[in-house]
Amino acid sequence: MSSPEWLRSQDPEVARLIEEEEQRQRSTLQLIASENFTSRAVMEATGSVLTNKYAEGYPSRRYYGGNQIVDQVETLAIERCKRLFKAPYANVQPHAGANANAAAYLALLEPRDAVLAMRLDQGGHLTHGSPVNFSGQIYEFVSYGVRETDPNREWLDLDQMRQLAKEQRPKLIVVGATAYSRIIEIDPIREIADEVGALVLFDAAHVAGLIAAGVYPNPLFTSAGDRGADVVTFTTHKTLRGPRGAAIVAHEDLGKRLDKAVFPGLQGGPLEHAIAAKAVAFAEALEPSFADYGRRVVENARVLADALTSEGFRIVSGGTDVHLLLVDLRDFDPDLDGRSAQDRLDRSGITCNRNQIPFDPRSPFVTSGLRLGTAAMTTTGMARDQMKTVASLISRVLRTDDGATCDEVRHEVADLCRSFPPPSER
Ligand code: PLP
Repeated sequence: MSSPEWLRSQDPEVARLIEEEEQRQRSTLQLIASENFTSRAVMEATGSVLTNKYAEGYPSRRYYGGNQIVDQVETLAIERCKRLFKAPYANVQPHAGANANAAAYLALLEPRDAVLAMRLDQGGHLTHGSPVNFSGQIYEFVSYGVRETDPNREWLDLDQMRQLAKEQRPKLIVVGATAYSRIIEIDPIREIADEVGALVLFDAAHVAGLIAAGVYPNPLFTSAGDRGADVVTFTTHKTLRGPRGAAIVAHEDLGKRLDKAVFPGLQGGPLEHAIAAKAVAFAEALEPSFADYGRRVVENARVLADALTSEGFRIVSGGTDVHLLLVDLRDFDPDLDGRSAQDRLDRSGITCNRNQIPFDPRSPFVTSGLRLGTAAMTTTGMARDQMKTVASLISRVLRTDDGATCDEVRHEVADLCRSFPPPSER
């Protein structure tokens, strides 16, 4: 990125903070599974004059004048999004993943309807029925989880999902997660939903980029090419490597309800600068090189998981099929909790987040696990060798609680990051 020259002359305080954040991103390792480095083209679209325009409504159905060009921007984003996900319908206006889920619920549910979703302490998201979130306050969420025992320990428990579906007769089954490292096949879920007459919402916030790259099955369709999930929501800023935001794709018959739910149901004017940046990101993801990026993201996650296993860590579910892995710290050191591990890594220039693991005896504020992702590191060009280095750096920091090791590792991390800067001309 270039430094913000004009901003520096107008508001040095904010400019300095942006520069400091840029420096932090360039000199430390970004292992937060929901983050990435966007291209310069995405950045430029995000910072464009489109932020000046009000455009309530949809292309050719706006409440304000002057939208001839904005209509073309949004139509381009919709068409590219549909092409990318082979989707009959797309809405590119949701400001964030939480909004996309809220809009889907508003379109498909009445207050107090029963909904099945994944347990929050086993990988689900706040918008999947947490009592502190609108979803848990408006709808009657019931949670399924992962298997506690072998075989397939810590993999999605489809038997439990089926049993709960039969007992609860939910109107909607939500699948997709924020901390689950295995592919969720849509076929058995469609089958369960059909048995009880439920709709299926696949929350692909995390895996949208992997779907676009063709390394994760497209949940809109079953393996036979029939209707899979009825609706798929996703964020554009994680593995998809676009601007902060979200979108919804679905089958055509639900389009009108979803459009109405996003606007005027939930949001006001769309963020057309973000929508232009989404259009840029969709075009980037349609390039053959993005399929290669997706393959490298998953390969890096697998190499990182194997290398951490060799260092004595246990990987939840035994490994990963996606861009993230959950590390159970207890085998490595029973006294080390997620909060202290995250703090120690932060001091060493390794940025990640603590996370509960399935059946975690510790609270969500403390936790016994870490969630690590490879989407951002892969964007910088890091590959197998660097993943092994990262695993050994993590192990060194967590083996001892001493400040000198953190300082040493911080310098090594900065050296590594200097060789793999976020690409500025991509
Ligand atoms: N759904 C899932 C599965 C997520 O992981 C997230 C964010 O991490 C969201 C929804 C919400 O996205 P946002 O933070 O853009 O609102």
